[in-house]
Amino acid sequence: MKYFWPVNIFNYKTFGRRPSGKDLARIKQSPYYKKRGFIFMGTKPNVNIASELIKEYAKSSQEARSPKIKIPVTHHLKKSFDELPSEKFKVMWLGHAGFIIELAGKRILVDPVLGNRPSPTQAFGPAKRFHAAPISVKELPNIDYIIISHNHYDHLDYDFINAIKHRNITYLLPLGLGATLKYWGIKAKNIYEVNWHEQLQLDGLTFTAADAKHYSGRFLNDRNASFWNSWIIEGNNEKLFISGDSGYIDAYKNIGHQYGPFDLAAVAIGAYHRLWPENHKTPEEAWQAFKDLQAKKMLPVHWATFDLALHPWAEPIERLVKVAAKESDKIYTPKIGEWLDLKRKIKCNKWWK
Ligand SMILES: [Zn+2]
Ligand SMILES: [Zn+2]
Repeated sequence: MKYFWPVNIFNYKTFGRRPSGKDLARIKQSPYYKKRGFIFMGTKPNVNIASELIKEYAKSSQEARSPKIKIPVTHHLKKSFDELPSEKFKVMWLGHAGFIIELAGKRILVDPVLGNRPSPTQAFGPAKRFHAAPISVKELPNIDYIIISHNHYDHLDYDFINAIKHRNITYLLPLGLGATLKYWGIKAKNIYEVNWHEQLQLDGLTFTAADAKHYSGRFLNDRNASFWNSWIIEGNNEKLFISGDSGYIDAYKNIGHQYGPFDLAAVAIGAYHRLWPENHKTPEEAWQAFKDLQAKKMLPVHWATFDLALHPWAEPIERLVKVAAKESDKIYTPKIGEWLDLKRKIKCNKWWK
């Protein structure tokens, strides 16, 4: 029998795999796991969301959601990175939710997505990227750690992981996501799944998973089968908070008390909509989160690269800059692919204008 499966378009492996066996037994211990998945901690989504969404899409114009400028990107080759990562704290935004961190002599990649579309196929579909990635897989320097916040396509890129699976990289993941990475060829010894408020100490760095209000899924049968979280990284007296995707949560205050103050908070500001108010923060909520976290500086992420909601392309950053107008010296607005100079006084560069 011939299967109908568009193999040239989809690689079914991209959907990942539900945890089973020991992996499942472990996550079942989590108080956040019930029956077949992790609990979504918000109220239930509106049952009419699909029909409302169709109406909203019909009203919205793709032109209004697309950039009017050519987005400036600083491109990098392997040789533009030092062989050994910096002891000092350095951060480069890769666009959307991805960035490279250098800290304590280690190089860390967060939610790296270099593909053209954050979807099961690169061949067609919405949300084609608005700018080239600042680095290619081929030119990727040595990486020590990859940190993933959750399994959505705009945070976890199968083609990317597949292309680097032979490298000796340590993966730090939310609970339940290890099954997918193992299925993709990553060795079990290189994978750590970290529950909320668990800490891992590796190479002089402390990695902590913390709260987030979101959901997960890459296909029809894996809704919330793996968890989602924010991350905290500490090393050499520097502390970084990474929000991942999340609605606004009161827990930001607790995270600030317990782990803050942070030198930098990378907070997602885009992909919000009134139909899913609990899954993503508005820019104003992101600013409130930054305050709650007791962070000194903010790196706004999760905008600029993909059209994932119905807001105009630069609306997230415009709204953030507006709500934070009195404290604009706290917000980094780097161009994509530019190293942040964390010691220099911030001057807001409105490159998106
Ligand atoms: Zn997400
Ligand atoms: Zn996302």
